[in-house]
Amino acid sequence: MKTTGKRPKTFRLNSKVRRWLQVEEPEDADDSCEDYFDRWLEQKENGKGVVEVGSILVDQSVLIARFDCVPERCAPARGRRRRSCCADVYVPLTVAEKRRLAGVRNELAAHLSRREPRLKCAEGRFYLDEEGETLCRPGGRCVFSLLDGRGRIRCHLHGFAKKHKLSQSDIQPYTCRIFPLLLISLEHGKILLTVLDKSNYKSWNTYSPQRFPCLADPSLPPLVQSMAKTLDWLFGKGFARELSRFRGRDEGVKRERGCGDGRS
Ligand code: SF4
Repeated sequence: MKTTGKRPKTFRLNSKVRRWLQVEEPEDADDSCEDYFDRWLEQKENGKGVVEVGSILVDQSVLIARFDCVPERCAPARGRRRRSCCADVYVPLTVAEKRRLAGVRNELAAHLSRREPRLKCAEGRFYLDEEGETLCRPGGRCVFSLLDGRGRIRCHLHGFAKKHKLSQSDIQPYTCRIFPLLLISLEHGKILLTVLDKSNYKSWNTYSPQRFPCLADPSLPPLVQSMAKTLDWLFGKGFARELSRFRGRDEGVKRERGCGDGRS
């Protein structure tokens, strides 16, 4: 495992996100996913492909990943191969997240009923599934997804937050807020930051990242740049810049060895 060198900075996980992370996982997880997860995590806990940034463990796949939201490329369509977070990922909610949405449910109902023909009835907790644990998916996509006339899929909650002068983090589930990043709470309060990638996607019972256009295109910008604001929101100002430094260093090493891709 590598470290940042002389002056390690103190980065800490946002306290709201830490509380969110400490909520227990539901017990109905698929056994095969758990097996994948356990094997993958064991490697990470042993330091394989992990760098230490301050006190945060960062999977090197975060440094390598290229990501950007490309709504026009991942909208649902019959027989499609491409997948999208808003159409294909189940979003579980914590009690706190449900409470946040319940606090604005009348405003949400008013906002969506004018814009979403899918919603026949926007009453009560209309955005939850039957079990009341995840966001429901009328028409095979998230209740809060917006499919515009140009075939782009987006999130209604962005416009809703702006209209009601809320921050995105006050309303959007954290699973979505940080996608495709993933956080894992380890022993002794340690946090592992990783990203959906080919080595771990089976652990989350989801599709290969190759099927998400926002992750699969090598011409996309480095994730540490495109998600700089989210990374700083998660761990404090300067965290994204610190990751970029690490990334630059790894790129430099690769170039010296003659195996880099030449992009930055
Ligand atoms: S809440 Fe928004 S970002 Fe999350 S899945 Fe639904 S539409 Fe997408």
